[in-house]
Amino acid sequence: MENTLKNYYQLKIIPRTKHSISRKKISNNTLKVLYSLKKAGYEAYLVGGSIRDMLLGKQPKDFDITTNATPEKMRKLFRNCILVGRRFRLARIIFFSEIIEVATFRGNNFTFESNKNIKDTSIISKHGMLLQDNIFGSIEEDAQRRDFSINSIYYNIVDFSLRDYTEGIKDLQQGTIRLIGDPETRYREDPVRMLRAIRFAAKLNMTISYETEEPIFRLSILLNNVAPTRLFEETLKLLYGGYGKATYKLLRKYKIFQLIFPLIRNHITNSNESYIELIINKELCHIDQQLQKNIKVNPAFLFAAILWYPLLEDTKKLIFEKKISYSNAFFLSINNIINKQCHTLAIPKKIIFYIKEIWKLQLSMNYYSSKNNSNLIEHPKFYIDYDFLNLRAKVANNIEVQQLSKL
Ligand code: ATP
Ligand code: MG
Repeated sequence: MENTLKNYYQLKIIPRTKHSISRKKISNNTLKVLYSLKKAGYEAYLVGGSIRDMLLGKQPKDFDITTNATPEKMRKLFRNCILVGRRFRLARIIFFSEIIEVATFRGNNFTFESNKNIKDTSIISKHGMLLQDNIFGSIEEDAQRRDFSINSIYYNIVDFSLRDYTEGIKDLQQGTIRLIGDPETRYREDPVRMLRAIRFAAKLNMTISYETEEPIFRLSILLNNVAPTRLFEETLKLLYGGYGKATYKLLRKYKIFQLIFPLIRNHITNSNESYIELIINKELCHIDQQLQKNIKVNPAFLFAAILWYPLLEDTKKLIFEKKISYSNAFFLSINNIINKQCHTLAIPKKIIFYIKEIWKLQLSMNYYSSKNNSNLIEHPKFYIDYDFLNLRAKVANNIEVQQLSKL
């Protein structure tokens, strides 16, 4: 397999007069950290999503800094600093209203020809996955270790110029998501990069280049090796980033949605019109709209909707297998389904609590809308109409919880 180091591009330096990034767009705390590092004699750059977004005329979500100061040196330099991260060691500089993450330049610490060449602090799994990546390097190496060319543009605090090692500016102008280095190697190192490619393509309305896209179809299965906690966080970013509907479309294209939610594999259709798919589409539209209005949304509802049919199928199975009542089977299945889903996504306890409450509400709504209990097995709807939004608010406020437990 090819080593990513072989793919060096010609460095392009863009002076301040030739780009649009002004210090006015950068938060004061970020500037403080950059200037402090510079004053202490270190190199300091703003890099990643903030540069990408500012060049696209968007407001950055957060500011990431990279430097040649080691995390330990940063801890000495900043009083308000903590070190975090097992896989990537990072310094977090804590301000009253903002946290700035500062990473030390990352080195190219391995070859893929043989695992014997790996230095002590990097560990690679048998699938080529990078389990630890703590070797420090130069800015040139750091640029090659980043995921996409558009995320690897550096803003130099010394003269406010941009440094582009990977033709990121060209890709940004052309609207192309392109992995740096050999795509297959980079996906094997970290399969989450497939999800990131999809997320940025949807969010920025860009196209994933052919070389970056092609391996996704073959390698998506590697996502099964990603820790469920990380996969849950990434799934939230995918579906709750304000571009959930567009992201969902791409996740379906690459057959990744069913990898994240294996329990609904059988409900995914080419026409995208099964009842569950209609609900997912509707809910994602709603979530996107709410987020655009800066209204917070509770992730539990979408999860409850996605897993509603697997829950009913399991309930039905238990009724026939164990010869128990509908409600007993339903409550047993709630735990079954949550446990099964948590093998891929580690859903936090608080969200699980809400999912369960929503399901119990669904059961009661179905119960009251059908005269005969057996109808529940044949026609159980997942309520998503406008009235249900009010119920949702009640769930969030815990108002119904006590009443429900009496049902
Ligand atoms: P946003 O914060 O808007 O979601 P971002 O690009 O800033 O997008 P972060 O997760 O904040 O994403 O990461 C910051 C930077 O770190 C990225 O721009 C990229 O350069 C690098 N990076 C993040 N995750 C990876 C990864 N899995 N592999 C390689 N580089 C990565
Ligand atoms: Mg970021």
